[in-house]
Parts: sequence; structure tokens; C-alpha cells
Amino acid sequence: MSEGKVTLGSPVTALYGVGPEAARKLAKLEISTVFDLLTFIPRRYNDWSNVARIDECEEGREISFLGTVTTAPVRKGFKKQSPVSFYVSDGTGRIELSYFNAPYILDKFMVGDKIFVHGTVSYYGIHAQIVNPFCEKAESSDELRLVRPVYHLTAGITSNMINKWALTALKLVKNQIPDVIPASLRESENLCSAAEAYEWVHAPSSIAEAAAGRRRIAFEELILLGIGMKYFMATGGPDEVAPVVISSGSLSSDAAMRWKTVVGNLGFKLTGDQRKALSDIQQDLMVSKPMNRLVQGDVGSGKTAVAILSMAMAAIMGKQSVLLAPTSVLAKQHYDSACALLEGSGINVALLLGKTKASLKKEIKTQLREGEASVIIGTHAVLTDDVQFNDLSLVIADEQHRFGVKQREKLLISRDGSDGVNAVHNLVMTATPIPRTLAMVIYGDMATSVIREKPAGRKEIQTHFLPYTDGQDIYNVLIAKLRKGEQAYIVCPRIDDDSEVVAPDEYYYDDLLEIPGVEKPSEAVSVKTMKKRLDDHGISEKYETAVLYGSMKETAKLEVMERFLSGEIKVLISTTVIEVGVNNPNATMMMIMNAERFGLSTLHQLRGRIGRGDKQSYCVLCSDSKTEQALSRMKLMCECSDGFELAGKDLELRGPGDFFGTRQHGIPTLRAANLFTDAPLAKVACDEVNKLFAQGGKEANNLMNNIGTMFRLRFADKMGTL
Ligand code: ADP
Ligand code: MG
Repeated sequence: MSEGKVTLGSPVTALYGVGPEAARKLAKLEISTVFDLLTFIPRRYNDWSNVARIDECEEGREISFLGTVTTAPVRKGFKKQSPVSFYVSDGTGRIELSYFNAPYILDKFMVGDKIFVHGTVSYYGIHAQIVNPFCEKAESSDELRLVRPVYHLTAGITSNMINKWALTALKLVKNQIPDVIPASLRESENLCSAAEAYEWVHAPSSIAEAAAGRRRIAFEELILLGIGMKYFMATGGPDEVAPVVISSGSLSSDAAMRWKTVVGNLGFKLTGDQRKALSDIQQDLMVSKPMNRLVQGDVGSGKTAVAILSMAMAAIMGKQSVLLAPTSVLAKQHYDSACALLEGSGINVALLLGKTKASLKKEIKTQLREGEASVIIGTHAVLTDDVQFNDLSLVIADEQHRFGVKQREKLLISRDGSDGVNAVHNLVMTATPIPRTLAMVIYGDMATSVIREKPAGRKEIQTHFLPYTDGQDIYNVLIAKLRKGEQAYIVCPRIDDDSEVVAPDEYYYDDLLEIPGVEKPSEAVSVKTMKKRLDDHGISEKYETAVLYGSMKETAKLEVMERFLSGEIKVLISTTVIEVGVNNPNATMMMIMNAERFGLSTLHQLRGRIGRGDKQSYCVLCSDSKTEQALSRMKLMCECSDGFELAGKDLELRGPGDFFGTRQHGIPTLRAANLFTDAPLAKVACDEVNKLFAQGGKEANNLMNNIGTMFRLRFADKMGTL
């Protein structure tokens, strides 16, 4: 424990009881500072305030009471599995508490201990008992907290721990929380104070109080994001760009020819929505105000073609553009698509990856500086290098994984390395169904183009559920597909049996970990185990199988991908590395092992890897989980194939704050605000602050300072790690 004063920005280890091990686990929940802990809002509450006492213990009734242990815990039987039980009394009666699979209870309680108990009464014969109740030591009824927060969890961390730490933290810092909400808004919206809000969400005396606390924190969060992004993440460059003039009227015949060549290379007709997006982009490119546009289209809607055609437009007018992909596999794939599409148009394409050999990199950089290559494709790594451009005018970020603002800033500055920084047109492509209001809050005045229409001839993917993760059926369906010459993905939640589960669904653990004796998550199938199973079943003998995961060497990954795209590898067994962007229209089958471990957004993204051609594709979700939550999510996946609709459902299942894997898509996780339903709040809040800023004065200045401080603490400092 540190000696100094604990502040909002202190690391969690500054709190009594939080050691390095706990800090490491908390980091998985994105909690690293004291303020992170405070803003870690419970995902729901157990309301035990309206329940019965021991003398009212009918079968099936939920009761809670403060009682005294009257007999020491003993094992009832001789087997290891025999339950441990003891009696408690609350003055109205006496009842037996029985624990299965919880031997630690033997040492936990002694006769005379005062304990708080919550559980559901069951009978055997005439004998009443509570099986596996919630139980904790509590001295008096003033300490009783009948509304219990339940948080998102990770292995080794319980809701009680987080709650205790959050309350410890609050005690230490509650007088240091700067207010970011204007007084006028506090009044008109009837909001409580910041300190109250945090107290109410972590230790509410009623559900209504918790809701009022959350509402206030949601306002804070939306103001920080909306205003913070606008004032504290500005790129600082001038806001004029040289227009990239493209209009068919004034196109030279040479330019027109080249454009025709490119369009001819497409090999398909653009959908109406793709054409609309392109014309939006073209309009934007023709004015000197930098474009700031988001192209939103569900997986498989054909965003790549729109991106490459936009770059071709710029190139034909003599301008350079950059397409940024989140992974090298994806960058390579875009590069191949661009080469095919731009063939014969005289437009040179360059690929720049972090792993590109130094000598080659140097050569490519020269090409970029001299303007020889005008379509540049790379990973975000290209931005960290000292890349200079001849005449860069368009930057496209595909699958906007990392917020982007900081990277774009870097790119702008590196453009010529001097003060003469020029702004560029920005285009962001995403499959995340971001509501318009959210896009406005996060990206400021961002315009959106939506691609809803799927390319013609696509068949809807059929999704099925198999209630196990091993079995002959799995291999039979797989072989049936392979026989037809089609290819398959198998996705597993971890690399090998010792490695951590790649995508544990935090909320999957929530309830399971806290209840003693309840079935723990089943073993997760690993990529390597799956490979071995295919070998053992003789599948690998007939059809080439290969593995792919993030920690493989970059060159090995690219090679496997290449061989999978060329059809040589028939079955690709991988982790979620293939989640983003990978495009192999001949892959028509996807099996997802331990599907319960993945969030709906991940499942939807994964599933988006198939159904990309005109053949019928199948997605098989394999899971032996029997929890209601897991089953309801599998059912949803089988019934629903629309990203936007799933996003809404995901939100319902996960609770506020965490919608559709926002983190994966580079949008900072919102913890209190629900951006589907709180979007109007965002607008009210940001409008009010902007109004105040426009008036100026002392309150405005203070508020500006506070928002700056809190924005950095809550979002900006974290963007590097997003
Ligand atoms: P995403 O929007 O998920 O990035 P892609 O751009 O990777 O989707 O496109 C998916 C597949 O659809 C690719 O194989 C692409 O060539 C194809 N495609 C894109 N547009 C059309 C279209 N208008 N008609 C037919 N196929 C198309
Ligand atoms: Mg894509």
C-alpha cells in the first residue's frame, strides 16, 4: 500500500487489500485506476429487501435474515461429495444451511457467528433447508445491505471484492471528484451529486436509488466523451484540404478511361447502397472541407470495394490515399483485392506492413515520398514509422479498431514532418452498428453512409446449435461440406490446453463463480486439440488442415492465409484472429467450439466470414453449456442474422454500458450510459455544455478544466491501449 494520498488517478494497488495479483485480474476488466473502479458500474442488482424470515419459510420462498450460527458446520456423510451443513437461527426460527461442493465452509463459520443469509427454502420431508445460500458475516442489522450489486467478473474476482474495493476507494476520493455537469443541467434533469451517484450505484439502499446514480454517471460519461472528443482530441491541423476534384463532366478522357477500366475489373454490379456511399464520398472529396465520413455496413456488405474505388478516384486525380487495416492478414488481403481491381489502370499499389523487410520498406517509402505509388495499404504500424507522402489526400480506416484519432494525428504530422501540416479526407469503415447519435458524439460532425443491401444472389447463412463440443455429428457435417470441394473454418476459444481462453465471456462467469457448488464453465476446446481430433478422425489425411492464431509468426500467418485463400488448405482451425475482414467466398462452413464463451458481436463477426459467395453457408455453434443465458444467446444467433438487431439484443443481455463489443471496435467502453437508449441524453448533455461554453465566463472555464481532467482520466489515457 502506498503512503501517499490516494487520488482518482492512483493505481488500484494504492487501495488497501489490492495487491499486484488482484491488479492484474482487474486489468482484464479494464480497471487500472481508482477512478476506473468507481466507474465500474454493476451490471445488475440482487434485490433482497423485500423477502421473508425463517418463520415464513415455505417451499420455494426466498428469504434473507440476520442470524446466529447455532451448530458448527459438519460434513453430512463420508463421501467427498457429501454436503457440509449447519444450523442458524434468527429469533423467529431455526433452519439448516447445506452446501454442496464447498468444503471451505467447514472452516468459515463457528457457533455464535452473526451471519447474513440469503437463499431459497427447500424441503426434504418435513425438514426445511436452504441449499448453497449466499452467506456472509455481519455484526448488526445496520450493516445489512439488502440490495447487492452484481458486477461483470473475471476468474478470481468476485462481486463482493469489487464492491468492497469500490467503496474503500469512494471513501478516500469522494471529495476530489470534479463536477463535469453544468449546474443548469443538474437542476433541469434533477441529478444528484457526483459523490452520491457513486455511493448509490455501489451501495444503494433501493433499486430506484441505484438507477438515479447510474443516470447521473451516464450524463457524466456522455459529456466526457462528446465534449472531450471535440475539445481535447482535436488534431490541431488546419481544416482545409485541396479538393480532389472528380466530376464526370470535367474528367479528361484519359481519366475517364482509367475509371472505366477499374469499374470493369469489379466483376459484379455494385449494389444501390454501395453506389450511394461512393457518390457521398465523391461529393465530399470535391470540397475543401475535410471529409469526415463513416461507412457502416454489416459484415459481407461489400465495404472493401467502396474503399478501393474511393482510392481509385483519388489516384486518378493524382492524389495518394492510405487504407489502414487492423491486422497484417487483412492488409494483405486488401492489397490483393486492390491489385486485382486496379489492374490495367496505371495506378500503383503499395503494401506496407510492420514486418516488411527493412530494405523493401525503404524502397516503398521512397515510392510514397516520390508519389510513384498512389494507393497505399498497410496496418496501423505504417503510422508509427516515419512515412512521408507526396500528396496524400485520403485516409481510410477499415474496421475502425483503434479509435483512430491519435493515429490519424500522427499520420498528418508525418506527412511532411514540418509545420505545413495539411488535413486529409477521412473515411472510416465499420461493421459495428453504431447508432447515429453515438457516431455524432464520438466522431463529432461525422457524416454516415449506410450499406444495408447485401450483394445480389447471397443466400442467408443457416445457423445451427449442437449441444456438445465433441461427437461424430461434428465430423460428419464437416466432411459433407469438404466433399463438395468447399472449405471450412473451425474457431476455438484458446490456442492450446495450457493457454488462457482467448475470448472468455466475462458475463458468462458472473453468476457461476459466485454461487458455491454450481457447475463451473466446461473445459474450452483449444485450436491444437481440435487439430489433433481432425488428425485422429483421419480428416487431415484427406483434406489439408492448418492452424492459425495471433501469436504465430507474422510470415507464417500470412502463408497459412494465402494457402487457405487459394483453396489448398481446406479446414482452417483458428482463434478469433479471423474475426475481422477475412474474405474467402469458397468457405461455406464455420464451426464455433464453446460458442458460449463468445459475445454475440464476436459470434456475428465470426459468422460473417462465411456466406460471402453464392453458395449456401452453414454456421454450427457447438456448446455443452446448459446455463440459461448461454442457451438464450445461442437461440438468438440461430434466429437472427441482422447485426443491428443482434446489437440491441446483446445490450439487453449484458445490461447498460457495454454494447455489442464496443471495445473491440475501438470505441471506449461506456460503463453507465446505454448508447442505444441514452442517445437522447447524449444530445441534451452535450448541447447544454456547448451552450455554456459559447457564453464563456468563470463557470464555463471551470467546467472546461474539469472535463479536460476527467476526459483524460476516463478515456484519453486509455486510447493508446484500445
Ligand atoms: P465487408 O463489408 O464485410 O468488408 P467485403 O468488402 O469483404 O465485405 O465483401 C464481401 C464479398 O462480397 C467479397 O468477396 C466481395 O468481392 C463481394 N462483393 C462486394 N460487393 C459486391 C457486389 N456488389 N456484388 C457481388 N459481390 C460483391
Ligand atoms: Mg471488410
